[in-house]
Amino acid sequence: MSTPSIIAIDGTSASGKSTIGGLLAQRLGYIFFDTGIMYRAVTWVALARGVAISDEEAITRLAENVVITVERPHVDDGRQYTIRADGEDITWEIRSPEVDAAVSPVSAYPGVRAALTAQQRRIGRQGDIVMVGRDIGTVVLPEADLKIFMDATPEERARRRMLELRARGANPKYEDVLAAIIRRDKYDSERPIAPLSKANDAIYLDTTNLSVEEVLERVLDLVKGCDCWENERDVD
Ligand code: C5P
Repeated sequence: MSTPSIIAIDGTSASGKSTIGGLLAQRLGYIFFDTGIMYRAVTWVALARGVAISDEEAITRLAENVVITVERPHVDDGRQYTIRADGEDITWEIRSPEVDAAVSPVSAYPGVRAALTAQQRRIGRQGDIVMVGRDIGTVVLPEADLKIFMDATPEERARRRMLELRARGANPKYEDVLAAIIRRDKYDSERPIAPLSKANDAIYLDTTNLSVEEVLERVLDLVKGCDCWENERDVD
């Protein structure tokens, strides 16, 4: 069996999609594309320009016009890449709690999804890519060769997000982080267009009790065509 060219990784917030997707792409020599960046960038620009999140028309126009670029890191501050919106470096800004709180309503607007999905499809169809998001296997690239849906308990995901935030010098309350994760998943799952959901042909991977290395090992097995871990939920 040949190596899958288009790999879609969807899943819940902070389930490890980006960490695993990035490592997997590195191993395979593929492009890594984290689509959440685009929704976050549009949200950040809206907040920065004082556009009301409830103003669907203005937000949609913004999504259609803003130029989002992902480049090699130009600063050595722990970033994986530099993200710009209309030329401005917004790499860390898009990870702020303000963006976390506003990104789901922005992502639910049909016009925003249409604009960003079209760009994602164009890039994804070139192949040799690991694309990460919420609707890659269901809507953006339903033809993907391998689809994985990653999940973990909300408590474990909140614990991981806390570690990430602390590493960047923030010190939020665990309860707030947990509540924000649950709120975002609920919003993303319940929106009418391209909701967060597992594609029928995606492989469910519960990472709650797994280290990054263990998850990567399982995903690499799936890439090699081994379905030995398929739908396994309680792995100790
Ligand atoms: O993956 P990340 O947490 O960065 O995504 C931020 C938000 O962007 C998600 O909560 C969701 O609202 C939106 N998103 C989406 N579709 C994608 C990727 C992200 O709606 N493919």
